Amino acid sequence: MSERVIVVGAGIVGIATALQLRLAGLDVLLLDRGEPARETSYGNAGALAVSDVIPLAEPGVWRRLPGWLLDPLGPLAVRWRYLPTLAPWLARFALASRPARVASLTRALAALLNRAAADYAPLVARAGLDGMWRRHGALTLYRDAAELERALPAWRRKAEHGVAWQTLDQAAVQDCEPALRDGWARAVKVAAWSHVDDPYLFSRGLLDAFVAAGGVFEQAEAAALSERGGKVDGVVCADGRMLAAGQVIVAAGIWSDRFTRQCRYRVPLESERGYHVNLPKAGVALRHFIQCASESFVILPLADGGLRLAGTVELAHRDAAPDWRRAEILLDKARGIVGDFSTEDMTLWMGNRPSLPDTVPVIGPAPDRAGLYFAFGHGHLGLTLAATTGALLRDMVLQRPSGLDLHPYRLARF
Ligand SMILES: Cc1cc2nc3c(=O)[nH]c(=O)nc-3n(C[C@H](O)[C@H](O)[C@H](O)COP(=O)(O)OP(=O)(O)OC[C@H]3O[C@@H](n4cnc5c(N)ncnc54)[C@H](O)[C@@H]3O)c2cc1C
Repeated sequence: MSERVIVVGAGIVGIATALQLRLAGLDVLLLDRGEPARETSYGNAGALAVSDVIPLAEPGVWRRLPGWLLDPLGPLAVRWRYLPTLAPWLARFALASRPARVASLTRALAALLNRAAADYAPLVARAGLDGMWRRHGALTLYRDAAELERALPAWRRKAEHGVAWQTLDQAAVQDCEPALRDGWARAVKVAAWSHVDDPYLFSRGLLDAFVAAGGVFEQAEAAALSERGGKVDGVVCADGRMLAAGQVIVAAGIWSDRFTRQCRYRVPLESERGYHVNLPKAGVALRHFIQCASESFVILPLADGGLRLAGTVELAHRDAAPDWRRAEILLDKARGIVGDFSTEDMTLWMGNRPSLPDTVPVIGPAPDRAGLYFAFGHGHLGLTLAATTGALLRDMVLQRPSGLDLHPYRLARF
């Protein structure tokens, strides 16, 4: 039997997992049907969003939903024709919003997020990417004291799960981030938040480290899992080749359902599509990652005064045509935060967040097939949790204790 581990999918989750395994001395083959890190991991907002411990289906979401859905360019949009397909996902989302469930999901997310930066540190050091990893913290902006007051219960709940934060008044906001327009009366600063200048180059840097450490990357489409006697023993490629492996890890983002379907697992994986506007010559020197609470979008400071505006959720089929108005609307929103900026060389992008209705990724073994593991469904947190996902899978493959209760991340919860 082959001792090799095959990782299917070279987005950030597959790349970080492959690197963790390789650094532990395993023989690793990483596959992608296209260029590595060119799908969702290409254009995300670059944040290690370590304070996002509360699942999306928190009880307050239902109050805001009607207003959002009436506005086609609001923070959340649904392509109505897709609604029948979405129904099982939405039903699960509703179940996940029960208070007891939110509490256990928050614990599960916090257990991953609290170690995310520590799991990245050795990978970043190995890849020489320290200069790209900015540990300046994030500011969440509020227009007035009342808006902050409404947000404080959620911040207090985050504090109960290990998130340290502080409030800033208007003078402190200006002092902390002079490039912001006046008028942001309050902010919450999370010092432990960090970001990378360019998530694509960051992912490619980790891939280079994987190859330099003796890992193998191959461009090939995995068409199916090969199984023998209830055990997965490799991958059958679209070109007909069989690649043997002792263990296979599926980290194929939104396309992971191809493999769960083959195994007849029913997993409610859907795309929460998101958009970005890249402004490499914006000419705005921000230091912190910026979140705008009322508008549900974020600003990533790029190198040399550039900005990336990102956010919005669109529930639609992953292959549906993009609605670029959802990206363009971010321009006006951003002007309200940082004033005017240059749009020279602006580009727009849309990506598929691989999303599970309870916000918690699947990280772990298949219920009834030896040698098969899954790592998908990271939703809004794929960059943040990639190194941790890889560390947990490394420990599972090596049958080492991870020090974490892995129960909440299992596929069999669906
Ligand atoms: C607008 C936006 C902003 C975001 N901001 C953040 C952020 O700030 N912080 C954060 O943590 N997350 C963020 N995210 C989420 C994050 O980008 C995703 O969770 C993450 O990229 C998912 O990574 P992945 O490796 O699972 O999937 P992907 O990056 O999509 O990679 C999957 C890979 O699998 C390959 N593949 C698929 N099928 C096969 C097959 N059969 N054979 C071989 N290869 C295959 C694909 O080609 C692809 O390369 C954001 C997302 C969006 C859309």
